[in-house]
Amino acid sequence: MTFEELNLAPAILEAVREQGYEHPTPIQAEAIPAVLAGHDLLAGAQTGTGKTAAFTLPMLQRLQDSTPEAVKGKARAVRALVLAPTRELAAQVEDSVKTYGKNLSLSSAVIFGGVGMNPQINALRRGVDILVATPGRLLDLIDQGHIDLSHVEILVLDEADRMLDMGFIHDVKKILRLVPKHKQSLLFSATFSDEIRELANGLLNSPKSIQVTPPNTTVQRIKQTIHPVGRGKKKALLAHIINLHNWSQVLVFTRTKFGANNVAEFLNKNNISAMALHGNKSQSARTQALDGFKTGEIRALV
Ligand code: AMP
Repeated sequence: MTFEELNLAPAILEAVREQGYEHPTPIQAEAIPAVLAGHDLLAGAQTGTGKTAAFTLPMLQRLQDSTPEAVKGKARAVRALVLAPTRELAAQVEDSVKTYGKNLSLSSAVIFGGVGMNPQINALRRGVDILVATPGRLLDLIDQGHIDLSHVEILVLDEADRMLDMGFIHDVKKILRLVPKHKQSLLFSATFSDEIRELANGLLNSPKSIQVTPPNTTVQRIKQTIHPVGRGKKKALLAHIINLHNWSQVLVFTRTKFGANNVAEFLNKNNISAMALHGNKSQSARTQALDGFKTGEIRALV
């Protein structure tokens, strides 16, 4: 299958082509036609499956198609709302919206906590069609009267399972009460607990169900290995494995924030550039760590 067969507008296809994608991923091949046809969607998909483009591309197209000529380029109320569990994911999704929508006259903004509110409030004042947000800051700005969700046509819950794991269920339910009843809703989740199903049942209207990975499994492209090793040798083994394979991008997960700092410090001392990323770091330190990881300046993100 090709992207051309998906009936996307030339302006969107052009942006996709610039990304160098040759074929739609399985979730894109299934989700794009369903969303374009106006269906609600319940999608089981993990990070790495191309899920962001699977909802962003048809969302952009539907918004572009339903924008009256007279208001194109003018300030207006939020028409698509994407909720994401973390600041990093929200920023990444909004990047994708900008990338795929670069040839369209739609505007977008991202809002999340941990940074100043004023730039976000200013962006909202200018008017945005697509708002990507984490639940907490979104509710803060709604409470302060800066956001009107009464014109939302499309709602996306991205990584719904993580949103619930992080304790956002009440915030999400509050937000759902503020959007119109009649809208198109898309729910993406890697796993399906009873709680997610309950949320989906309340939100979605005869949804199309798409499952691109077997339920509740890890990503198939990842090879997993276990190294049984004593506590005192874990860090040395980690450094050894990184050097042995000459890995340039390594993600390390630790149980605690303290552990993350500790491992990062050890790796740096052993000439493996590393940075710790956790909730005690300021947002600018978190962004800096991620940027450094992307550019290759930092080999290990802990
Ligand atoms: P996601 O699952 O949305 O986090 O996407 C994972 C990665 O796949 C991102 O880096 C995308 O840029 C990339 N990607 C998305 N769609 C395609 C495609 N059709 N072909 C190749 N890469 C893609």
